[in-house]
Amino acid sequence: DRILIPQEKIATRVRELAREIIADHTPPKMAGEPEITIVPVLTGAMIFCCDLIRQIPIQMRIGLLAVSSYPGASISTQGSQVLSQQLGDIRDHHVLLLDDILDSGGTLRLITPMLKQAGAISVRCCVLLRKDRPQAKQMTVDYVGFEIPDEFVVGYGLDYNNYYRNLPDIVTLKPEAVERMRG
Ligand code: 5GP
Ligand code: MG
Repeated sequence: DRILIPQEKIATRVRELAREIIADHTPPKMAGEPEITIVPVLTGAMIFCCDLIRQIPIQMRIGLLAVSSYPGASISTQGSQVLSQQLGDIRDHHVLLLDDILDSGGTLRLITPMLKQAGAISVRCCVLLRKDRPQAKQMTVDYVGFEIPDEFVVGYGLDYNNYYRNLPDIVTLKPEAVERMRG
């Protein structure tokens, strides 16, 4: 329907976020010092993660977590569920969790304790987008890319029914596009 955040603005903000993250993370200097593991929440944070980590020149490992909250042609959360994980050994690591969008907060509430349970000494959260709704504002996150209106968005990794992730901009959908998928 319309472009909410064009790719150039995303790129600029991702560089700024990387600078904030670099300032807050001291890489290990000696063996035995805590390491950093970056955990993108798949699939939505995939593109964000690829762009962000290439701007962070510090030693890090990547762990993967796949979570589903909007299965199929739904545009409201159906409750978050971990589909698969490949975190590696995060015991005594500082974990930086990356998600595409903070909406109800259910995803971060589900995952953060899991990462602590797996031995992370700290869990910081970075979301590219945060929706303007009370539940999203109540959650404490460490880094936010953009505050957006409470609308359903796709592009730059975000999907509708697993489509549109490859759009370079963050956009809203026409009602017809939603209807067609439900058809
Ligand atoms: P929460 O768990 O905070 O309710 O929602 C977070 C997850 O829901 C996100 O990781 C994302 O997968 C999905 N989500 C929430 N809002 C939107 C949206 O506007 N568009 C898309 N494509 N996914 C969303
Ligand atoms: Mg997600």
